[in-house]
Amino acid sequence: MDNFDLIVIGGGSGGVRAARVAASRGYKVAIVEDTHWGGTCVNVGCVPKKLMVYASHFSHEMEDARAFGWSVESGEFDWPHFMKKKDAEISRLNGIYLKLLDNAGVTIIDGRGFIEDANTVVVGDNKYSAERILIAVGGEPFKPNVPGSEHCITSDQIFFLPERPKSIVIVGGGFIALEFACILAGMGSAVTLLYRGELFLRGFDKDIRERMVGMIENSGIDLRLSTDIEEIGLSGEGKKNIRLTDGGELESDEVFYATGRIPRTKDLWSDQLDIQTSKQGAVLVDDNFESSVPGIYALGDVVGRMALTPVATAEAMALVDYWMEAKAVDIDYSIIPSAVFTQPNISSVGMTEDHAIEKGIPYAVYETDFKHLKHNLTDRSSERIYMKMLVHKETDKVLGVHAIAPDAGEIIQGAAVAITAGATKADFDRTIGIHPTMAEELVTLRTARDS
Ligand code: NDP
Repeated sequence: MDNFDLIVIGGGSGGVRAARVAASRGYKVAIVEDTHWGGTCVNVGCVPKKLMVYASHFSHEMEDARAFGWSVESGEFDWPHFMKKKDAEISRLNGIYLKLLDNAGVTIIDGRGFIEDANTVVVGDNKYSAERILIAVGGEPFKPNVPGSEHCITSDQIFFLPERPKSIVIVGGGFIALEFACILAGMGSAVTLLYRGELFLRGFDKDIRERMVGMIENSGIDLRLSTDIEEIGLSGEGKKNIRLTDGGELESDEVFYATGRIPRTKDLWSDQLDIQTSKQGAVLVDDNFESSVPGIYALGDVVGRMALTPVATAEAMALVDYWMEAKAVDIDYSIIPSAVFTQPNISSVGMTEDHAIEKGIPYAVYETDFKHLKHNLTDRSSERIYMKMLVHKETDKVLGVHAIAPDAGEIIQGAAVAITAGATKADFDRTIGIHPTMAEELVTLRTARDS
């Protein structure tokens, strides 16, 4: 039996980072993966999604170009052409991941890993032993148990459909639902977005959530709030007939459930092992990512903290430092920036206004809402810009920044550095702007909103 210092199960962002950094610093490491190298992010998440965002956005750009004097014919979006190019790019990235592992001296094992005991992993007919095991298997889409939901797709299938659905009903009000509603609408599909609550994007700042309702509706998406699917049937032509909880009925080519993700821990370890999990199956870990079984660790989406690639890679780096240098893990989950790649994007870092109220923190709000300079020449009303900054009234520290803007993620990344460094509003104010940009608004917010 081959013996390792570390066996990683899962070749996604967190697992690959932990494996290759640990190996390059002297550990004997093996990594096991059963589906695609690079995990969710590279194969059925961030990367192909962002390529689809670019593809979709050309429809807006072609319209805008006409307003600027170009004679541009929009034409049709060629889905199979795009998918072929996307697949080639993903294969290239899969290869890069394998090369990085190989260059670092990691033993690569294809197959489904099963943890037999605290030091043994079984893959097919082979057994491997290790001093420590890292579970980094990520998650998978969750589909609610609604009659007919077996006819529906999730984000695992949307990237591989042979043709673009002409009409689609998307269920959910989170990252994936909103992003794909915008992507598919931009590509020319008739999109209906169903959200069970009154206001989507739970957890984001309320001003952002409220403003996005108008922007989503202005971009031609049929948004239905406070409703859900009761039942889905199939018509003769393969269309889906959908009955809604509010009594409404819909027909569409596809139904796409974007109703969250669950950890992929089913059948991952022996019943003899007492690895504690949450109700959803997330591995419960301590501050150093160690599970209830000493020597078995977990990180990334499978621990259910924040399902974001940069979080998984930061956790991997911190864990390797902990193992090799006994350095305490120091990740501040309260200031993790994120972006929702809607059109325009939403991006956020730090505290929301509701959170400040909940914690009893005295705060002031600075905000700006304006029309993008570019759209003074076009009629695009779905792309207004909004930025909001929350400032501690006593310490002047910037607590959070939230934005709706084209490329908002690119703007907020800079604000995230400032907030991480503990910047005050005065620090933002003495920063010279870059003109004319959207981002300069963050350093010219002068008057607090009346509270
Ligand atoms: P989210 O948790 O973001 O959203 C799930 C949505 O589905 C919520 O609106 C939720 O409603 C709704 N929902 C949950 N269960 C049901 C149900 N039974 N019936 C109807 N609606 C339901 O999950 P996503 O699937 O969008 O994304 C998963 C995670 O992946 C995200 O949380 C994020 O961490 C990550 N991700 C990040 C991206 C990025 O960084 N840009 C892009 C895509 C994903 P409610 O709010 O009422 O509970």
